[in-house]
Amino acid sequence: MKTGSNRNEWTRCPRYGEFLERLRIKYPAFGEQRLKRLLHTMYHESGHGAIAHHFGVEVAYVKVSLSESDGSHRGEVFYFSGPKIDSDKETLESFLKINLAGVMAACKGTGAVNINALWESNGYDDRQEAFTLIGRIAPRSRDRCLETAEMHVKELLASSDLWHRVQLLINALIEKPVVPMDDFYRLLGAKNSSGK
Ligand SMILES: [Zn+2]
Repeated sequence: MKTGSNRNEWTRCPRYGEFLERLRIKYPAFGEQRLKRLLHTMYHESGHGAIAHHFGVEVAYVKVSLSESDGSHRGEVFYFSGPKIDSDKETLESFLKINLAGVMAACKGTGAVNINALWESNGYDDRQEAFTLIGRIAPRSRDRCLETAEMHVKELLASSDLWHRVQLLINALIEKPVVPMDDFYRLLGAKNSSGK
C-alpha cells in the first residue's frame, strides 16, 4: 500500500515566498536549502496542528526547534490525547487524517509535485502510524480507507479558512519556535469539537 497520490496537483501557498523571506532575515547565516527545509517542516507541523484543531483534538503545543550545533531542526505537535484501544471508528479516522495532514500540508505549502517522495523523506513515522490506524479502521479495504481519508484532508486543506489557520501557525513559528497551547487557541479560535 502506498500513501499519497500522484493525481494530486498542488499550487504553492501564496505566502510561501513571504515566509521564506522572513526566515532569510531571521537566520541570515542559514543557506537556502536549510531555510527551505525549515519552512517545509513548518508547513508540515502546522498542517497536523490545524487539522487536529478542526477535529477538536486538544493540542498542547506546536514546535519546530533548531539545533544550534549541526544545522538540523525538529518538528513536533503534541496532543493531549491519542487513539485509544477502544476508540470508535470516527475517532480513529480523525487521527488518521491528522496524521496524513503533515505531509499533505507540506506538499500544498511548498507546491511539491511528488507527494510519494515526501512520504519517503519526511513522513516516515507518520506513515507507520497511518498504516496502524488503517489496519484498525478498515483491515479489509486499506487502500480505499487511505484514499477516502486523503481526499477529505485535501478538501479540508483546500478550504481557505483552514489554510488560513495553517498560515497563522507558520507565522507564529517564524516568530518563535514553540506555539504553546494558549497561543494556539488564541490564534485558531476556541477549542472546537464540532468540526467534523
Ligand atoms: Zn508529521
